[in-house]
Amino acid sequence: MSLITVNNLVRYYGNHRAVDNISFTLKTGDILGFLGPNGAGKSTTMQMLSGNLAPHEGEIHINGFDLLDDPKRAKAEIGYLPEQPPLYKEMMVDEYLAYCARLHRIEKPRIDNAIKLAKTRCGLMESGHRLIANLSKGYQQRVGIAQAILHSPKVIILDEPTVGLDPNQIREIRDLIVKLGQEHGIILCTHILPEVESVCNRVQIINKGKLVYEADMADLLDERTAGFHEIVLLHPPSINQIYAVADINNVERINDNTFLVHTTNSTAENIVNAAVANNWGLIKLIPHEKTLEQIFVDLTLSDEKRSDKNNAEIES
Ligand code: ADP
Repeated sequence: MSLITVNNLVRYYGNHRAVDNISFTLKTGDILGFLGPNGAGKSTTMQMLSGNLAPHEGEIHINGFDLLDDPKRAKAEIGYLPEQPPLYKEMMVDEYLAYCARLHRIEKPRIDNAIKLAKTRCGLMESGHRLIANLSKGYQQRVGIAQAILHSPKVIILDEPTVGLDPNQIREIRDLIVKLGQEHGIILCTHILPEVESVCNRVQIINKGKLVYEADMADLLDERTAGFHEIVLLHPPSINQIYAVADINNVERINDNTFLVHTTNSTAENIVNAAVANNWGLIKLIPHEKTLEQIFVDLTLSDEKRSDKNNAEIES
């Protein structure tokens, strides 16, 4: 069963359709990277999923419970770490977690155990009596994650969990996310594309309120190593002569001297041999990687550029 099922979710601010008919699912074991430029609708979506903002249209089921019809049970299945963690810095860690346990409606006899377990999982066993204000940012973030998992929710939503941390702290928090992913479904909102590549097994991109991309990381990595090469030739032949080289699957001319070739055997050996044998003047050969960053830029920036260009044309 899906941990989260979102169907045709819509949210307006005034007339602005900030989230525009999005649908997706999250399954056990998923660490889903939720990406998008500023203003794309990520926080609005996360606030709706965590039950803090009502949708105008659509349905959200959390572990089978309808968030709108059965909000108590649905919310019990969600742990949320907002971008600004809701920490009371004048409290000690244990005191704060006990307070959160009550907010999560954990039964009294179970509170001590729940706190112990969350602290163990977040590496906070030695920190129970420390004031939150005196902890490093990385440890404060661990406390934020501990409050999100205290009630053993099936789903954890983490909004920009590594922003402002140093590289070692970032690594620790990413390791923690991967560990948590073994037992929970996780949605990770982030701007940091390498973070998605190192932590997530699925990725989706939202732009202007719409989902514009959805993929398994494994498929993305397969595509990346699938034999695309950019070649630059001083004396370029006709495109058909390049097609005639063995194992060439596809050729695209980028400009007079540059071609994007796709080989079926993933190597560039035949094309290099042909370039040398036929005196095509091989200047450059670049393995062409379809990175997440490229996909992100193509899907989100090109739109803006297009509208900038259109506006410029209208104005001129
Ligand atoms: P993201 O988290 O991807 O940066 P948001 O969900 O915060 O995007 O915002 C999506 C859109 O909705 C943006 O255009 C933003 O300006 C607008 N928006 C967000 N919150 C409000 C609000 N409380 N009132 C009016 N507009 C809002």
